[in-house]
Amino acid sequence: MRRPLRLSVWWLLGGAVVALAGAAAIARQSLEQQRALFETDARIVHRLLSQQVVQHDAILATLALLQPDATGPSGTPPEQRLPALYPQILAVQRRDADQAWPDAALATAEAASRSARRAALASPDLQSGRYRMVLAATPTSYALTIDLRAMVPWAEWPMPREGSPVRVSLVHAGSEHVIQPGDVSRTTGPGWRFEFHKVVAAESQPFDVVAVRELGGRHLPWGRMLAWVLAVAVLLAALRHLQHLRGERRRAEELLRLGQVGRLNTLGELAAGMAHELNQPLTAVLANTQAAQRLLQDDPPEMATARHAMAQAVEQARRAADVVGRLRRAVERPDTDGQRQAVELVDAVRRALYLLEPECRRRGVEPVLEGPPSLWVQADPVALDQIVHNLILNALQAMERVDAAKRRLVLTVDAQAHHVELTVADSGPGIAPDVLPRLFEPFFSTREGGLGLGLSLCESLAQGMGGSITATNAPAGGAVFKLRLPMKEPIP
Ligand code: ADP
Repeated sequence: MRRPLRLSVWWLLGGAVVALAGAAAIARQSLEQQRALFETDARIVHRLLSQQVVQHDAILATLALLQPDATGPSGTPPEQRLPALYPQILAVQRRDADQAWPDAALATAEAASRSARRAALASPDLQSGRYRMVLAATPTSYALTIDLRAMVPWAEWPMPREGSPVRVSLVHAGSEHVIQPGDVSRTTGPGWRFEFHKVVAAESQPFDVVAVRELGGRHLPWGRMLAWVLAVAVLLAALRHLQHLRGERRRAEELLRLGQVGRLNTLGELAAGMAHELNQPLTAVLANTQAAQRLLQDDPPEMATARHAMAQAVEQARRAADVVGRLRRAVERPDTDGQRQAVELVDAVRRALYLLEPECRRRGVEPVLEGPPSLWVQADPVALDQIVHNLILNALQAMERVDAAKRRLVLTVDAQAHHVELTVADSGPGIAPDVLPRLFEPFFSTREGGLGLGLSLCESLAQGMGGSITATNAPAGGAVFKLRLPMKEPIP
């Protein structure tokens, strides 16, 4: 099992997902808005054009109803005054009963109109920008020539006359009249296309109103999208910082707890050693001085025996003084029997690595944890934390004496027959041959300012839990510490 992927990578990934999803939602919402706007405009265009073409039907119907030879006050037939009233009507033609149309298209349209009982188009070609329509009536039939360009009611048009991005055209029988060209020249890159098709509401002039809007990347709301991404980045940075602060506080509390436990254990050992070692000589001093006191009170005083008792007392007092000097060897094993329970070793290693993360980072060390993901040992969890913490810290301190680029710390957990082994291997200078046998002695230290109690405490704690600690040098260099602890089946 390698070291888990760094947390910050997950933060980055999560942040990227949130930022991208939000930016996509903003883009989508903007596109939806633009589509709604486009459709509203296209519907208005359709309504306006429908209103225009319906007028033509009404005009033709009115002409058919009028007396064919009615003339206005100026003497002009009424149909000839229409172009002045309706700019889109270019010409009005009539065919009286005894006349013929100037061209066959009009005659065909009249026949079609007569059978459909409504006006009909005369071979229209919208591309030319004009079309003709005929209404068959008796005795006189009428034809209108309409200018498509003049038919557009620009005053009510929902889009700007110049520069609108929407293309609007009228399509009929394969020919097209472009009312406004719009901006549909996009040829490369991804994009979106909105389309609107609806036939104008006049049966006699079944023109399809076609509106097209094309959008490319430049139409996306980049400003808002960027603002969102920045907001997410700032929020995530703030959250990460907050989490970092909380982590640091937790780490500091844990370190304080470990430090206190370590100090208490060390003090406990010292006190136990002192009590044990001093008890005997002090008792002897007390007994001898009391005996001497009694002998001197005798009449006559037993000088020889009293002198002997006092000599004994002096010797015991010296021994007591020696004890204080020899206290470093008087550390007793703490009894951790009572607190032993099933503990996950890998968890303890991870806890220690977490606590020592700043120490590792400071020295540029990236610890590697290897072995099965779960191994249970029978241990006192606090003592186990203390040992693992000490071993890793010692390794980090030892590696300060080698180049930063050469620093490697590998922690391996491994199951033996009845034991579980944790190996802490570093790439430091290793342990000198003369230091190796004294490593676990109390107060033995080669480090400036070192107390020399760490390893002796670790050994005492490990032995107290029925385990052991050994130290060797790796063939390739660096020190290897092995902590062995009794295996424990996990609690079901
Ligand atoms: P301290 O760290 O206070 O010196 P310890 O009992 O923890 O006390 O360690 C005793 C000595 O063991 C250290 O001073 C050092 O010389 C040696 N030592 C411990 N760990 C290592 C290691 N990983 N590599 C080399 N020497 C080590």
